[in-house]
Amino acid sequence: ISEYKICIFGSGGVGKSCLTMQFVQGIFMPKYDPTIEDVYKKTVEIDEKQYSLEILDTAGTEEFSAMRDLYVKNGQGFVLVYSITSRATFNDLQGYYDRIMRVKDTEINGQPPLILVGNKSDLEDERVVGREVGQALARKWKCTFLETSAKDHASVDQVFFDLVRQINRL
Ligand code: GDP
Ligand code: MG
Repeated sequence: ISEYKICIFGSGGVGKSCLTMQFVQGIFMPKYDPTIEDVYKKTVEIDEKQYSLEILDTAGTEEFSAMRDLYVKNGQGFVLVYSITSRATFNDLQGYYDRIMRVKDTEINGQPPLILVGNKSDLEDERVVGREVGQALARKWKCTFLETSAKDHASVDQVFFDLVRQINRL
């Protein structure tokens, strides 16, 4: 059984904890403590193979702590999340991206498996970040892109399945 470490980043309120809970427990927790940063484990079967995924759901300060840097260093896959209802959360992602690339030493190792996620796709009426805007950033970063709804469990599992397949391709 392969063990993969995955880190989820993005501004507060974009739905990182809800995405994690949907994937790990299959439930939508509309009120999750925004200050909790924790690691969740799930065993999944993907393409007829078993994987043990360890998911770090980051929270709180945008400053990376030494502990978090260590986690990023050991992380094999990264999820960068914004909300389609907030332009600011989209703009914030470059900072997280740059920090991950610095900590991972991409000059030497190349870019790690990465997926860009536009969450809250169920809130189409409140959309301010177009799908093509997300797609353009993913093209720039040469990574995959998905719009998800943690509320409706739409494309949530695909995020993690895609990352596992990317890691396997390394
Ligand atoms: P985090 O700070 O990134 O961990 O965000 P949370 O997972 O705690 O979610 C922040 C808020 O957004 C909560 O009120 C959630 O109920 C709500 N939320 C999260 N995901 C979705 C989603 O896909 N659709 C909708 N409509 N609300 C969501
Ligand atoms: Mg959270």
